[in-house]
Amino acid sequence: MIFNIKVLLINALLFPMLTWAQLYKIDRNEKVQSALKRINERRIYSFIKTFSSYKTRHHATKTGIKSAKDLRKYWQKISANRSDIQVLLIHHSDTPQPSVVVHIKGITDNRIVLGGHIDSINDHQSDVNAIAPGAGDNAAGVAVLTEVLKVLVDLNYRPVNTISLYGYAAEEVGLLGSKSIAQNLAQDRANILGVVQLDGVNYNFQGKDLVLIADYTNYFQNLFLGRLIDTYLNASWSYDRCGYPCSDHYSWWVKGVPVSFPFESELRYENPNIHSELDTIGNMNYNANHATLFAKLALAFVIEMDR
Ligand SMILES: [Zn+2]
Repeated sequence: MIFNIKVLLINALLFPMLTWAQLYKIDRNEKVQSALKRINERRIYSFIKTFSSYKTRHHATKTGIKSAKDLRKYWQKISANRSDIQVLLIHHSDTPQPSVVVHIKGITDNRIVLGGHIDSINDHQSDVNAIAPGAGDNAAGVAVLTEVLKVLVDLNYRPVNTISLYGYAAEEVGLLGSKSIAQNLAQDRANILGVVQLDGVNYNFQGKDLVLIADYTNYFQNLFLGRLIDTYLNASWSYDRCGYPCSDHYSWWVKGVPVSFPFESELRYENPNIHSELDTIGNMNYNANHATLFAKLALAFVIEMDR
């Protein structure tokens, strides 16, 4: 009996703890630093500028659908010389806007996931075609995904695990894209090592540099992100809470997948322009300085997790 309890304890506690210790190691300083050096603020800025120039990326509009197709083409262009990289549209039953995904195939089928939504909304007006540049929410998050892809390709990075970057459709109307993606992967019993949500990464005029959203996220992976920030970012951070399922991280969390959501600012200093026609790169001082922190964090996460 005692022996059985011991076995049970080892399996229930020690084994996952060893796995966490292995998974959340930080010992690839050289590799990470050489990736971080390649991050280019002007490139991130120019992506945000372009991706926020559609009248709207609302999920139910022509321009919203076009923005997804254009993103796919752009990601294909970046990865054109790599036969191990696949860029796909994912169609959904409850929105005309497809999600976009790029898979960098690993040796294993285990996945490391980054994601951010591609759609925008103007919730001051009922017209779906109302002006909604969504520069901060969330062209900037998609710009970070794009920068991660660009740097990994430029490094000729060949992953152990499959790295999947998702541009989710229709977040603003109920997390539709991410919900069906997480649902399908759970059904297929995909082994997802960890997910990081990038939604709101460039607006910060006061307070801490980054906050880790503590609700509907994974405690242990959040600790790991905190250590990555301390090791690689030279930035201040704290925890905060949304108090409700405020972004696509929730879609993973309900499926029991380890997920974190590092956010651009403390919620009391939140971007006042989101969901309006004022969410422009101009209202973020025409730069992507803050988003570069998130590109660093996302790259460090991917490289340190890829073992
Ligand atoms: Zn958003």
